[in-house]
Amino acid sequence: MSDCLLEIRDLKQYYPVRTKEQRKTFVKALDGVSFQVKEGEVFGIVGESGCGKSTMGLTICKLIEPTSGDIIFEGRNISGYKRNAMREVRKKIQMVFQDPYASLNPRMSIHDIIAEPLIIHKLCRTTQEIDARVLQLLRQVGLDDYHAKRYPHEFSGGQRQRVGIARALAVEPKLIIADEPVSALDVSIQSQVLNLLSDLRKELNLTYLFIAHDLSVVEHISDKVGVMYLGNFVEVADKYSLYEKPLHPYTQALLSAIPVPDPEVKRERIILEGNIPSPINAPSGCKFHPRCRHCMEICKQKAPERIDVDENHFVYCHLYGADGKLKK
Ligand code: SF4
Repeated sequence: MSDCLLEIRDLKQYYPVRTKEQRKTFVKALDGVSFQVKEGEVFGIVGESGCGKSTMGLTICKLIEPTSGDIIFEGRNISGYKRNAMREVRKKIQMVFQDPYASLNPRMSIHDIIAEPLIIHKLCRTTQEIDARVLQLLRQVGLDDYHAKRYPHEFSGGQRQRVGIARALAVEPKLIIADEPVSALDVSIQSQVLNLLSDLRKELNLTYLFIAHDLSVVEHISDKVGVMYLGNFVEVADKYSLYEKPLHPYTQALLSAIPVPDPEVKRERIILEGNIPSPINAPSGCKFHPRCRHCMEICKQKAPERIDVDENHFVYCHLYGADGKLKK
């Protein structure tokens, strides 16, 4: 696909661990994930804590090495790239982290925090150029020039996240991996940061991988959404199909938890029993079966295969036949 910016093929991230009985086993944080993101697209990734979504972000920009699988960025397979080769790619793939409090060095001024990547990647020749670019980036994220002299502790959570975004933009990336960028912020501030990310995407033709634990957060910003459960996607679809016609019982449960603003609209709340199981000892068959209200005998024994419901919608669930229709 020519407009494909990022393609992930069968990506695995296994961590070796020892059980209480000293038996060696693996935490399968990512267990064969595959997907594509087109240039200019926003792909939202949603799931509960421990489903592997943050590991995915860190693995794609190779802050942790994948166990196996391919990461194809701009047509090049970067999965085997070592430190030096990654330096060039890192300029194009930037991360915005969940916790703006922890991701900014408290001893550095905002100017120095934003200038750091410009200096590391030798993007400006003189200090005047650096100063001008820092001010331009601050304005781009809705901050004022005088903020450059301040320190992170003098800012609110939303302002700190704006600084994190400015730092990511400094190297003119193509892809931004935003790992729960608004979950540490108050609800009123969340929408401001989401609007800023939306505006920047249009202005700079950015592509986002937008990670969140809540389907309501990714709804407005995403073009396509993938729902993850225990190291893999259970359903991926364009936004309209996923929110209007969710097929996987897990997606249906997550969606049922979103409050509907219209009191006339009644939506059945599906309560998910228990917590996400440990990835050290994942359930057999469909990993969701212990929590699924539609669980059948086959679900306990056999992992469901991918069913392509239409061009932009696939699901892993035994409820659907190969034609994508609900089995009788
Ligand atoms: Fe539920 Fe079975 Fe579908 Fe898994 S495969 S989600 S257990 S119905």
